[in-house]
Amino acid sequence: MSKSLIIAHLFPELLNLYADKGNIQTLTQRLRWRGYSVEVRPVKATQSPELESYHLVLLGGGSDREQALVATELYKQRSEWRAAASSGLPILAVCGGYQLLGDFYQLPGGDKVQGLSILDMTTVPGEGRLIGNIAVESELCGSIVGFENHGGRTHHNHAPLGSVVSGYGNNGQDRQEGVHHWNIIGTYIHGPLLPKNPQLADFVLRSALTYADLPADLEPLDDRMELAAHQHEWARHTSKVQKTL
Ligand code: GLN
Repeated sequence: MSKSLIIAHLFPELLNLYADKGNIQTLTQRLRWRGYSVEVRPVKATQSPELESYHLVLLGGGSDREQALVATELYKQRSEWRAAASSGLPILAVCGGYQLLGDFYQLPGGDKVQGLSILDMTTVPGEGRLIGNIAVESELCGSIVGFENHGGRTHHNHAPLGSVVSGYGNNGQDRQEGVHHWNIIGTYIHGPLLPKNPQLADFVLRSALTYADLPADLEPLDDRMELAAHQHEWARHTSKVQKTL
């Protein structure tokens, strides 16, 4: 296979809370183990993303200050973003990056950080932050585990990434976590997300490979280590849920 899968890592200097960069390492390594060639293009906030040349875009989480800086830049290209996303560009967006795919993220002081309006979604502040480990059940890939820390409460009517088994998710109320729309996955889960959720990593890779017109039949990997980490977290949550029933 001579063609490379091109992954854009957006604003790594600003959006990399709780080691979100680990998602890139997981994706690239899982591709290389299977003989694919992969190129990661870091895009700084001062550069304009070339959306037509990527097969997958990653946006990580960030503090309110960093999000506001990034949002101003993103907003300049909002029509290109909407066109690319609606024609199937795979996007994985975590926490602060996830919030920016909606109409706005309202800060605790009342100001609004303008989003890209790719999704019909808003995020507003609430009392206290939603912090802790989280476990989710997803139709896309089974169980997902990780860590969340956000002040924003997100509401949308798209399909969620999954339902919350333990933790808060989008808003701490409707038991939904994240979003899955077109080839976009948005989530509040850091940790980073993908190293201990290899099934989700492969789901993301399949959509990126399909979008790139590359073979997307992924051969299984030896995931014993990844799944042991996953199971350990999942068991902690489910035993906690059983105790509270
Ligand atoms: N600043 C946002 C919030 O608190 C996102 C935080 C994050 O990316 N972890 O809701």
